[in-house]
Amino acid sequence: MLIVKNLSFSYNKALVLNDISFQLKPGEILAVIGESGSGKSTLLKLLYGEYDLNQGHMFWKDQEILGPKYNLITGPEYMKYVAQEFDLMPFTTVAENIGAFLSNFYPEEKENRIRELLEVVELTEHSQTKVKHLSGGQKQRVALAKALAKQPEILLLDEPFSHIDNFKKQSLRRSLFRFLKKENITCIVATHDKDDVMSYAQTMIVLENTKVIANNTPEALYNNPINPLVASFFGEFNTIENEIIYAHQLQVVKQSNLKVTVEHSYYKGTHYLIAADYNDKTLFFEHPSRLKKNSTLFLTINR
Ligand code: ADP
Ligand code: MG
Repeated sequence: MLIVKNLSFSYNKALVLNDISFQLKPGEILAVIGESGSGKSTLLKLLYGEYDLNQGHMFWKDQEILGPKYNLITGPEYMKYVAQEFDLMPFTTVAENIGAFLSNFYPEEKENRIRELLEVVELTEHSQTKVKHLSGGQKQRVALAKALAKQPEILLLDEPFSHIDNFKKQSLRRSLFRFLKKENITCIVATHDKDDVMSYAQTMIVLENTKVIANNTPEALYNNPINPLVASFFGEFNTIENEIIYAHQLQVVKQSNLKVTVEHSYYKGTHYLIAADYNDKTLFFEHPSRLKKNSTLFLTINR
């Protein structure tokens, strides 16, 4: 079990994280979500032992995770951390980077492991390419594979797909999280993109104003977003009579007391997102076709 208990931390005076507590079972995936500057990266760095806590404790399997005051080398042996800025050797090949932590005493095992990881991050054709010739997204994939090479017990990922283009993202996410499951690696992912984690995380915590404001399954947070911040993580939403209503929950009907005037139709591929005026406020709803500007229509809420 990973246990974080009453953790508080500040770089300078003001607390960045205040009284944070959560737990995570081995082999599970935890998503840490929050706006830019909410302290996601800081939390991962603290878990990795980069800084000393102002207050609180962190444990992995009854072993306390401690900061630089107590450790000469940052990062416990059983943990790997893929930072937002990745740390690779530019003048060596992809394969050499991935295998950097693997022992040369077992050349066959090393080669097999590198081959398996190249497949996970879909870089097999680039195994002999020097890292300096790779794109940002490819470098990010090398960093992921390198972190996985020695089968860490815990993997900390900071915005792990941020540099990876949409063509590759979907399949990479699936293959990475499938691999983590297979190897029973406990993982904490910091992200602001729901698609990175919604299908894979068992638990999500939401950081806002230095606190954990929600801690639940993706399903529970989606179905009952406790505030606009949580809802905004999942998609377009409206606040109607103090209730959060997602855009897809509003539907056009013949008659209702929600009368709106169409302002704009945004093409979204599977549907149009319609912006419409409702008592001088803009509401968003989804519709299968484009709607004429200034036309009036009625909406109902499907909860
Ligand atoms: P996130 O990853 O959610 O965007 P960060 O953890 O990077 O948030 O930052 C949280 C807060 O801590 C921000 O206000 C940021 O400016 C501040 N911060 C981050 N790193 C440092 C640092 N090394 N020194 C001082 N302040 C920092
Ligand atoms: Mg960050």
